[in-house]
Amino acid sequence: MKTENAYCSGCGHQVRLVLVDAPPHDGQANLPDGAEVVCLDFHEGCSEGRCPTTGKKGIVMGVRLAKSHLNDAAFKTVRGRCEFCEEVADLEVLDSTFAVCPLCGATNRWVVLELADETRITLTGH
Ligand SMILES: [Zn+2]
Repeated sequence: MKTENAYCSGCGHQVRLVLVDAPPHDGQANLPDGAEVVCLDFHEGCSEGRCPTTGKKGIVMGVRLAKSHLNDAAFKTVRGRCEFCEEVADLEVLDSTFAVCPLCGATNRWVVLELADETRITLTGH
């Protein structure tokens, strides 16, 4: 796996980019060889707008990184039940709306509800 450093004008510092093979079910490979760029330095703020380094929507870069598992530490997580595989997992937060299931790679909508006794529960949905 080849890592390349690039200056990201969005983050204001060097980021690490990796070329990975696109997942076969993705169906939207943009590079001729079927590879896609994953930024290892994605963080929550990148979800807004467009990634200046790759030209992709920021949230797309987040989904790619989450699915690649190349830097799971980059994500905050919320404990919740994935609406797709129905497992309880530490969902990787992309932004205040979306989180990726580390088990099946599906993108869930999520919201935290605080109950009267201050218990917090995470609700997920498609
Ligand atoms: Zn899942």
